Amino acid sequence: MHESSSHVEKLSGAGNVRPFRRAFRLPGCFLSVLLSVVTVGLFGKTSSGENIIWLANGLILAYLLIVPKWRWRFYLVASAAGLIVGSALIHESWRMNLLYNALDVVEAGTAAILLRRRSTVLPRFTDAKYLARFIAFAVIGGPFAAGSLMAIFSYICWRSAPIPALGAWLGTDCIGIAVTTPVFIAIFQNSLKTHVSRSWQLACCVLLIVVTIGVFGQSHLPLLFMILPILLLIQLRMGLGWAAIGAIFVTLAGGSLTVRGYGPLSSAFGVSSEIRPFLLQLFIISAMFMMYCVSVVLENEKSIERRLTEIVSIHRLIVENSRDVIILSDFDGRPYYVSPAIHSLLGCGPETLMEMEGMAFVYPGDEVKFATVLRGIRSGSDGAIVQHRIQKADGEFVWVETSLRAIRDPGTRVSTGALGIIRDISERKHAEKELEAAYQAVEALAAKDALTGLANRRRLDEALTSEWRRGLRDRSPLSFLLLDVDHFKAYNDTYGHVQGDSCLKRIAELARGAASRTGDLVARYGGEEFAIILPNTPATGAFEMAHLICTTLRRQLIPHGESAEGIVTISIGCATLIPSFDQSEKCLIELADKALYLAKTGGRNRVCVADSAEKPAD
Ligand code: GH3
Ligand code: MG
Ligand code: MG
Repeated sequence: MHESSSHVEKLSGAGNVRPFRRAFRLPGCFLSVLLSVVTVGLFGKTSSGENIIWLANGLILAYLLIVPKWRWRFYLVASAAGLIVGSALIHESWRMNLLYNALDVVEAGTAAILLRRRSTVLPRFTDAKYLARFIAFAVIGGPFAAGSLMAIFSYICWRSAPIPALGAWLGTDCIGIAVTTPVFIAIFQNSLKTHVSRSWQLACCVLLIVVTIGVFGQSHLPLLFMILPILLLIQLRMGLGWAAIGAIFVTLAGGSLTVRGYGPLSSAFGVSSEIRPFLLQLFIISAMFMMYCVSVVLENEKSIERRLTEIVSIHRLIVENSRDVIILSDFDGRPYYVSPAIHSLLGCGPETLMEMEGMAFVYPGDEVKFATVLRGIRSGSDGAIVQHRIQKADGEFVWVETSLRAIRDPGTRVSTGALGIIRDISERKHAEKELEAAYQAVEALAAKDALTGLANRRRLDEALTSEWRRGLRDRSPLSFLLLDVDHFKAYNDTYGHVQGDSCLKRIAELARGAASRTGDLVARYGGEEFAIILPNTPATGAFEMAHLICTTLRRQLIPHGESAEGIVTISIGCATLIPSFDQSEKCLIELADKALYLAKTGGRNRVCVADSAEKPAD
């Protein structure tokens, strides 16, 4: 069954491979398999005609791993053709080759089926899980399956010992797949491109060639170990693909020199010719294993680095775009990091703040609360929020709110400094001030009488209570006057309410003018009645004040046709008490009320003083 198109695209590496390249892939498969067979035939054989490495199967597997499954049959046919033609070109017995070639196809196919069974991703030799599956299924599983068939077949046909036959097959094919597949996958995925310069690449290649020839071309010193650092260097600088190409070169060059009797695996070092190819294969497979491990470690490090870079860039984005200023400081308030937002807050750069001594940027009067929080952080607290002023570059102070938090050592949890997030709250402070002013205006309105502008009854009650308390403390006399306009109903009836109102305003003005000492309070008591509180005023003073108001009003000669005098007059009741604990301010009002009553009943237009000896009960 065909795989879904997206799946096929993913596997075929559509993102990396251009269409014309894909068109050449099938003939490329045929040719590369053919070339690999010829190369091994020319350079990779022992004196007894055994292969040291078998490259073709790793190559076929690489093709199968990157193309969609439904195209496998074409690639298997092209590979088989490449194997047959290649073998014919190096003049090998066609009967044996037919068997070997069939088993090669079985081997690569088995490995591909096992590897692709549960994985739809492109081969990744830097991923530990994929690598483990690759080693299990491709490097070991496939060769083992084909090698077992080969051993059974040669036992049945030629009575040859199955175990050595299986061993020889595994040796050449395991190493072939381990080395060749990563190289061709890297070529197909375009990942042979490196960041190093051409001269570096050339230097690495020359170094590997020179060292390989130096190691395998002489039989005086066993220098096989020198190959490993060179392969590692190539891997670190140019990637796994190039290192695997290097390993193929070492296998072919080293192998052909070894079979000619040179190198560290020669008889000069006591190595018998039977185990030479096996030792070389062991060396190459060890080198490949080392490189696989390194590539996994490198990839892990790279992904950690990528993650860290991502985190750092996210942090930078937040810090640099935050309107709040972020500060890292020591316990003395000396900042060692200030975010760029400081520009818009203070009009100076982060360096200016960092060059200052201690908390020099904090308004002197607010330094104490700032320092208190820092002290708390030093002794283990988490921190707190402080509202304070901070000096701008132009010398002006701006209100800010700083959230100070402890910076703790992740291991010991001990505080190592403070993180401050500074927010401009000047607008909030301004709004708070305006709100306060508005509140006070409302308060004042609530305490004022709308008609006369005098204090209202509520304000009068509050003032009387507080003056009574003050009198209690000071033992000073407190006087209270109650004023009532005479025959005011008749005035309204005669002149109308509007004129009645303006008459009340005139009387209010007059009373306010008279009682103008600090602490005196004139209030509208209700209707056409007014009250005056005279703190620290004895009865004589209160009487004089009342008398003054009466006479001043009379002098104004406000006409009142319905009054006996023909003008508007008032009656006033005066009361004076030295506040005591057995009485309350209500007594003062009652006394004044009684005095007013006396003034009214006594003929109006007069002042009457209450007899303070006649103390009303509380
Ligand atoms: P007395 O000499 O005994 O005080 O007589 P009076 O008419 O002044 O007393 P009364 O209590 O009978 O009448 C008070 C009048 O005051 C009644 C009301 O029409 C008038 N008054 C109360 N408040 C206002 C006000 O805000 N504006 C005006 N224009 N008149 C008011
Ligand atoms: Mg009245
Ligand atoms: Mg009246």
